[in-house]
Amino acid sequence: MAPVFSCRWDWCRSSFASIDALHTHVKLEHIWPMKPMRKADIALMRRMDLQSLHSSPNTDSSIVSQGILSTSVRSWL
Ligand SMILES: [Zn+2]
Repeated sequence: MAPVFSCRWDWCRSSFASIDALHTHVKLEHIWPMKPMRKADIALMRRMDLQSLHSSPNTDSSIVSQGILSTSVRSWL
């Protein structure tokens, strides 16, 4: 009797003959499309988030607007 590794990802009911096939399936079908479900995957997601933060202009503009806000508050005091 061959062991069956079934994917337990939320709506997914695929099953595989090897753990490697399951890992590949999870990466391609679940992790890469950005559907975080497991703690073990959060480290990977954070790395991707860091990369997107560095290329995001929104982060810089929010920091700048905070700096302007605190400066104007100080001038009022
Ligand atoms: Zn799956």
